[in-house]
Amino acid sequence: IDFIQALQLEGNKEKKEAEEVSEYKKLRMTIEETKKSLPVFPFRNSLIEAIKKYQILIVEGETGSGKTTQIPQYLHEAGFTNEGKKIGCTQPRRVAAMSVAARVAQEMNVKLGNEVGYSIRFEDCTSDRTVIKYMTDGTLHREFLSEPDLASYSVMIIDEAHERTLHTDILFGLVKDITRFRPDLKLLISSATLDAEKFSSFFDEAPIFRIPGRRFPVDIYYTKAPEADYIDASVVSVLQIHATQPLGDILVFLTGQEEIETCVEMLQERTKRLGKKLKELVILPVYANLPSDMQAKIFEPTPEGARKVVLATNIAETSLTIDNIIYVIDPGFAKQNNFNSKTGMESLMVVPISKASANQRAGRAGRVAPGKCFRLYTAWAYKYELEDNTVPEIQRINLGNAVLTLKALGINDLIHFDFLDPPPHETLVLALEQLYALGALNHHGELTKAGRRMAEFPTDPMLAKMLLASEKYKCSEEIVTIAAMLSVNSSVFYRPKDKIIHADTARKNFFHPSGDHLTLMNVYNQWVESDFSVQWCYENFIQYRSMKRARDVREQLAGLMDRVEIEMVSSITEDMNIRKAITAGYFYHIAKFSKGGHYKTVKHNQTVMIHPNSALFEELPRWVIYHELVFTSKEFMRQVTEIESKWLLDVAPHYYKAKELEDSTNKKMPKTIGKASKT
Ligand code: ADP
Ligand code: MG
Repeated sequence: IDFIQALQLEGNKEKKEAEEVSEYKKLRMTIEETKKSLPVFPFRNSLIEAIKKYQILIVEGETGSGKTTQIPQYLHEAGFTNEGKKIGCTQPRRVAAMSVAARVAQEMNVKLGNEVGYSIRFEDCTSDRTVIKYMTDGTLHREFLSEPDLASYSVMIIDEAHERTLHTDILFGLVKDITRFRPDLKLLISSATLDAEKFSSFFDEAPIFRIPGRRFPVDIYYTKAPEADYIDASVVSVLQIHATQPLGDILVFLTGQEEIETCVEMLQERTKRLGKKLKELVILPVYANLPSDMQAKIFEPTPEGARKVVLATNIAETSLTIDNIIYVIDPGFAKQNNFNSKTGMESLMVVPISKASANQRAGRAGRVAPGKCFRLYTAWAYKYELEDNTVPEIQRINLGNAVLTLKALGINDLIHFDFLDPPPHETLVLALEQLYALGALNHHGELTKAGRRMAEFPTDPMLAKMLLASEKYKCSEEIVTIAAMLSVNSSVFYRPKDKIIHADTARKNFFHPSGDHLTLMNVYNQWVESDFSVQWCYENFIQYRSMKRARDVREQLAGLMDRVEIEMVSSITEDMNIRKAITAGYFYHIAKFSKGGHYKTVKHNQTVMIHPNSALFEELPRWVIYHELVFTSKEFMRQVTEIESKWLLDVAPHYYKAKELEDSTNKKMPKTIGKASKT
């Protein structure tokens, strides 16, 4: 990689800086000292004054200045929790909510879950004593269902507002509305970047409180030519920095868990080969499903004389601040959920980041000392190919879930909802249509009884519908298991590079002839039979942690089933019922075999393929249902199960017509089938 040469020439000049860095690291600060060293600290009193004076305040301050961890503590100390009310703080990402809560509990010297807690989907770690509560924006969105005036809060902080996730965007409208009839509720909108003016004008010209950041200069390096394989390029860059550069930790931005795990393995392997020639390299991953004990590790101080390398998703861009990062490696990509409102198809894609993201990433190298950022793309690409800003989620993803929750909150007129940036009209219409087809709305657009039940589930409406449908098909036990497994699906099977053949053989032993949904169920049920054994997971190349999480999710879902009064019954001998229930939820995700191993989606004739890891990869049944589309080299269907096309007329008579489902190879499908059906 070509910027390395430039680096080596600079080698000597850097030594002095390095001494400064390690000097810095010898300074093991106490918690109290650390708190006082944060940029927000000098503003403690003026901030409290401003909050007392104004109902709504926009807080802007650079990442790492202490907004998330300190402001709730200041408010608590200033008496905002005296009358039995809480301080709430939303985070777009679950890992951030957990990790920040853990940090604040530590700073306040209390047990996590008591005075300081967090609440994320499927996991509530709070108690009656909780006064500072971190939660995901999605969780607060759902809390509106049970507490529409947020009566238990004295202050609500919508944090990381610049991330502009769908839930955060909707919360803007909801909390703005509440401040009108709850004059005692304080509202803080906190953001890391320059959108403050925009937030201010949305919130009726609320004042902006700016916390000046401290930033050291960051040198930026580009590659001379595009990198063909950014994973490999990242690994090589890490090793070259490690070999040639003064001590200081490295942060690498990758797009997801799989990539990060691959990178961890490659680094472990190569550093092992290099042996004692190099100093110790501590390799640490960070991604959304990372278990909490591993999360804590990234914040532990780097051992004397060693270097830490953190491999993270864009969670480390602004949500989490890892101290002592001096080097940033930025391949320039992120995973994004995208929705095509023309085809109604949603898919997870790796896309180039925006200039704003690239600059945030680079900034992470300059928090404690002058830093360096290595961009694995060309200066030209930065200038001409990257967009200025990331498009807010509300303008690019499926709104089904959001619309369902808003309807359940009694907000019927979505066209006139107070959006910071309104979603495209056709996306909104599509969401309404989808909810209608799922039976959640009637033809006036009002919530039906089924819709009300669906809204009880903090999931995609399709998954909620599948859960409801299990009542009719008498297979709630199985469907709840499948739903839980789907929620952790990408990380169930463990595939270490050096044991791929063993791992794949083990995986094949779980294969169910009808496809991946029942395969996942097999995995879960056998694990239950093993008495939730760790050893069993190890022997079968199953990720124990994912299974444990699936078990938690399953328990939560079973609780919600009880709330909507669906009895838990089993239909294990009848896998057709299970597949019908899945179809009742996911009938939008149907593809039909076309030719040459390709499939076509039924409504929009898009070419898609079965993912190579699927149980059906070699089977190629005529009709399949898939859980999600993932775009890598091609558009792949992940979690695929064989179905019969005639079920579609049963489960979605408004959506499918018999003609669309005719088999070219089987023209004799009975014509009456379309009429005989009813949901
Ligand atoms: P901001 O919200 O302004 O970006 P934060 O409040 O998140 O800033 O971070 C302030 C400081 O707290 C940073 O130095 C960060 O490293 C530290 N910090 C945050 N979470 C943890 C944690 N879980 N463990 C240790 N330190 C943490
Ligand atoms: Mg923050």
